[in-house]
Amino acid sequence: MGRHIYVHNPFCVRKCPYCGFFSVTDRSLAEKYYEAAVREALFWAEYDKSYVSPEDKGPDTVYFGGGTPSCVPEKYICGLLETIISAFGIGSDVEITLEVNPASFTLEKGRSYTKSGFNRLSMGIQSLDDGVLKTLGRLHDSEGALKALDAAFEAGFRNISADFITGVPGQSVEGILKDLQKVLDKGVKHISTYSLMIEEDTPFYDKYSDTIEDLVSPDTERSMYHEVRRFLNEKGIVPYEISNSALPGFESRHNTAYWDGCDYYAVGAGAHGFLNSVRFGHDEEIESYISSAFKINRDEVNKLLGTEGEKHDHIDGFIYFEERLTQNDRMREYPFLKLRTSKGIDKEEFKQRFGRDFEEVYREELRSNIEKGYLKSEGQSISLTKSGLDFANLVMEDFL
Ligand code: SF4
Repeated sequence: MGRHIYVHNPFCVRKCPYCGFFSVTDRSLAEKYYEAAVREALFWAEYDKSYVSPEDKGPDTVYFGGGTPSCVPEKYICGLLETIISAFGIGSDVEITLEVNPASFTLEKGRSYTKSGFNRLSMGIQSLDDGVLKTLGRLHDSEGALKALDAAFEAGFRNISADFITGVPGQSVEGILKDLQKVLDKGVKHISTYSLMIEEDTPFYDKYSDTIEDLVSPDTERSMYHEVRRFLNEKGIVPYEISNSALPGFESRHNTAYWDGCDYYAVGAGAHGFLNSVRFGHDEEIESYISSAFKINRDEVNKLLGTEGEKHDHIDGFIYFEERLTQNDRMREYPFLKLRTSKGIDKEEFKQRFGRDFEEVYREELRSNIEKGYLKSEGQSISLTKSGLDFANLVMEDFL
């Protein structure tokens, strides 16, 4: 299995009222933050040399997410990517994605991004209905979003994903299908659609936690979800995961690696990684990240990620141990991750990885979910049915 790199940009221009992600609006520390991230990337590149054998090629994907990476000067983002490319020996066939928002994306930035090596964009369009965008508190309008898409193509991007949010008060099924058609007409080959979640400690929680189901009934939200998948499938943008659809060949390799349980390096405050079967996280504290990235101690990291690493191990201001997965944990996690995907569980692959028959290990879970109509078994594959998609979390938890 390959390995991958995730970089977290914690800066945003303004906090969206529904957002529960770690991000801050004070960008005064961005320059220092990216200097620190360069140091951290160089550290992991050195670490990588002893982590893999010399004949292994470099990581398979790089993903800059956020936050809003396009809201900081492009020289920081591009400089960090150039460091990663040369230090890790990233090949030209590697998928390198950047998340951007229409309000902070320009043709000039786009050109700098492609020049430094980014070859895939994930644009947070969310909607092309100005009323819905206003409800979501986004900084762009529909015209701005379409212009940003034009600029992305003009800058040379051919692999562009557009993110949308469904289940927003005031949004209609017809409206979202029209929005999707507009971005497909522009040449977008990948669509992610996320149902609006009302997260605690957000302005949306105060505003909608008691009323969201009156404003958007669960039935409406579900029919929106299924209509979107049906529509995209009809257009050749095939749903390959619960929230993601793509023209075949344009599926996100980076996200697919998460569902495959691959290793990944994590760079930046708030970023999470997985190495040596250890899940680890970075503190969500920008100032302490900056100071700790300049004094990373290899022995401490080796200990935390090595066989001695255990719960509560913490390199202050930098990374902390979350959990170590045994082979049994990985076997338990396999259906949880794979059921997200349309291909689902591959019984042959399961046997190869864990030396056991899937049907023997999960006899009861499988039987009850097939009986309820949530899972289907076809040849070597077991996947969610259409009604199973509505209860995906419950089905997946059954296997944990
Ligand atoms: S732009 Fe994205 S990360 Fe930033 S506040 Fe809005 S939803 Fe959150």
